[in-house]
This record gives sequence, C-alpha cells and structure tokens, in this order.
Amino acid sequence: MDEQEETVQCLTTKEIKALAQPEFAANPDKFYPTETFRKLGFHRAECPKCKCHFWRHTEKKVTCGDSNCEGKYSFIGNGFLKEGQEKVTFAEAWQGFKQSMTTAKVPCNAIERYPIVARWRNDVDFVAAGIFCFQPYCVTGELDPPANPLICPQFCARFNDLDNIGITGRHYSGFIMLGIQVFNYPGDYKFFKDECIEFNFRWLTETLNIPADEITFIEDVWVGGGNLGPSIEYFVRGLEVGNMVFMQYKTFHDGSREELDIKVIDTGIGLERISWLVNGTYTSYQDTFANALEYMLGKLNMEIDKKIWEGFGPYSCTLNIDEVEDIDKTWEQIASQIGETPDKVKEAIQPIKELFIILDHTRTILITISDGALPSNVGGGGNVRNILRRVFSIMKKNGWWDTLGMEGFLEIFEKHKIDLEGIYGKFPEYKSFGEIIQIEFDRWKYSDDESVKKLEKIIK
Ligand SMILES: [Zn+2]
Repeated sequence: MDEQEETVQCLTTKEIKALAQPEFAANPDKFYPTETFRKLGFHRAECPKCKCHFWRHTEKKVTCGDSNCEGKYSFIGNGFLKEGQEKVTFAEAWQGFKQSMTTAKVPCNAIERYPIVARWRNDVDFVAAGIFCFQPYCVTGELDPPANPLICPQFCARFNDLDNIGITGRHYSGFIMLGIQVFNYPGDYKFFKDECIEFNFRWLTETLNIPADEITFIEDVWVGGGNLGPSIEYFVRGLEVGNMVFMQYKTFHDGSREELDIKVIDTGIGLERISWLVNGTYTSYQDTFANALEYMLGKLNMEIDKKIWEGFGPYSCTLNIDEVEDIDKTWEQIASQIGETPDKVKEAIQPIKELFIILDHTRTILITISDGALPSNVGGGGNVRNILRRVFSIMKKNGWWDTLGMEGFLEIFEKHKIDLEGIYGKFPEYKSFGEIIQIEFDRWKYSDDESVKKLEKIIK
C-alpha cells in the first residue's frame, strides 16, 4: 500500500459552535437582522448575568430575560389578558397563532400535523421537533414541502427530561410545537430573518397583547446536521416563548463554512407556554390539560392548594433538576418566599405534581398509540411502556386505582381528546386502544406482584 494515511481533525458540534460564537457576537449586522430590530424600536445590550447579547425595547429590561438570569417567572398572576377578557384556552392559543401567521405580509399556510411515529426516518422513533417532519428531503431540496412557507401544530415527544415534568411548567414528555418552516430554494425565495422577526413580533404584540417592552430577543448560534446559522430566542417575563433557527451555512470538519444554496427557517414555539403566559396561571399544566385535570380532581376528590401553588409558581423555574445544585436548599428558599415551611409546601405540591405527571404521560400515550406505536421492550415502544408503567405505579402508590378502576382510568384519554380536538379535530375511533392499555396493565401488575413476592422471600 503506497497510500498515505492522513489524520483529519474533526471538531465536535460544541467546538464548532464555540468557534463561531465570538465571530457572530462581534459582527451582529452581518449575522442578525439588526436593521429590523432597530426599526421595531429594539436596542442591543449585553446581559450582566450570562454575558449574552440580546435586544430590548426598554432599558428597564436589565437581563436577557431568561429565567436563569431573571430568577423567576414574572408573568404568574400577571398575564396579558385584556380587561374583561376570558382565559385563553390551549386550542384558542393555536387559533390566534394561525390567524396571525396566515395573514402575515408573506402568508404562511397552516398544514395538519404529521404522525408522531417517524416512519420516514431510520435514525429516530418519534418526532421530537417540528422540523423532523421535513428532514432530510425538504431541507436538502430533494422533495417539495407540503406548503411553503408553512406553519404546523406538531405533536412532539421527548423522553429525556421526565424528572422535571409536573414541576417546572416547561417540561412535557409530549407537547405541541408550533412550527414556522420556510424553505428558500434558489430561484424561489420566500423570506428569511427580517420577516421572521417581524411576523413573530406582530403575533406577540397584536394577537397576544404583549407590550414590546416585555420582549427580549437573544442572539445565539445554532449547529446541527452539518449546518450552522444564527438563532434567536425570544423571552417574555422569564419564559422562553420561541426559538428561530436560520440554517445558513454548511460547516466542515475544521469549523470552516460556506453559504448554503437552500436557506431554511425553523421556528419552534411551545404551544403549552402560550396559554400559560397569556393567562398568567401558576402552572401551564392547568391550561393544557383543562378537561382532564378537572375530571381527575373531581373523581379523586382532590383540591389544589391555590395559595401555595400561586406562591410556588414564579419560582418553579428554579427547580430544574438538571441545573439545580442543592434541591433541598432550593425548596427551602421557595418556602421562605411563600412564607410557609418546606414540608407544608412539598405536601401541597407533591400529589398535584403526580397528577400532572399522569396527565402528561397519558396524553403522550394517547398520541403515540393512536399514531401506531405499541408499548414494547425496544426503541420508541420502550419509551411508551416506560411512561405507561410510571403512570401505573403512581396510581398504585396513591391508591387511585381503588377510586378510578380501569374504566375510570381510560376515561382520562377521552378527556385529553376534548382538550386536543380544538386543534386536531375529532380523533378517529381506535377500537383496540383500551385493550392495549389493559394488556399492559396486566403485564405490569403480574411483574410487579412477582417482584414483591421475590422481595418478601428474600426478607424472610
Ligand atoms: Zn442572561
């Protein structure tokens, strides 16, 4: 062999991002839609806490607006409803978004969601972000997207953050991502950064009634799938509302880059956060699962301690398990803010949190199974089985099976459908759904009983 071996150094995604960040921050006019920000009355600033660059409408906004820098959610009990306006439902939040985006200067077309089971891809089991539906072929230009520009209320699933569900208000195993996807092909340009900012700003201020002074836009860099580009997250009163990613460059192993022929916008907005933010309720789960929650509270004869939850809500953002260093200390701090003992606060939060976990997981189970997934031991089916069993255990621990029974349990799925019908329309009948849950329950119960027996034997 006379071929010479050559070692190529390949930078990781993180390294490529770290390399691009200072260059982007030093040249905002080159990478970010600064002219549009200025036109809308925003000025560039540096966050004193995290040192990121962001755009604000008033100097009263000192930090970038991220809850990590703000220390709390300040929209709780302090939302954006107009005088006399009733609470915005979860479904109405989608309708408002749709109305705004389909009447924008370059109107977007609303399309129906894709199945959550990502059969068109062999690298993932479930759709975890709206853009998954258009990857890889629409992004590479090999296939035309179903509409362009488009918006979509895509149901997504993520199973990596289960411990934060029920607490932070931001975390879900299944959630609806409002997507704005734009594919700018050579010779068929739609719009890019400036219009994207304008359209999002119009929706925030005109539809949601949020004053410009309350909005901050944070400059960032996005890297993924061999591409790179600027991204802009926007925050309102401590809550990240959306993230706009502009795929602009192709990156190489050494971090160098060239302009892409096809420039794609991928905007993701958590629908669950919109009704929460506008209503200013103490947790997003209340609005998202409105019907299912009411059903469960009624059936189990439970009440939410409003005083404690209202006091807890603003600080719930500090309980992100992945970020918090000393969880007990954080609970103590929250309790002292509310003026209660940590035990009293935990006592009020814990059972309701478990109810929220059940509601979150059952909604994800409803959509995944309805779309063709089955609980199993491998891959995506394993995730479904895992959360279903977690639900069964929480039900057992609290003695809720005694009150609900299987029939009452299956009714939760029907209530979820009511909450979702305003977005997705009537669910088609799925005759074996109840049977699938029952079989899983029997299997779980059997293995649960078996492990108890084994444990008792060992103890004896
Ligand atoms: Zn900051």
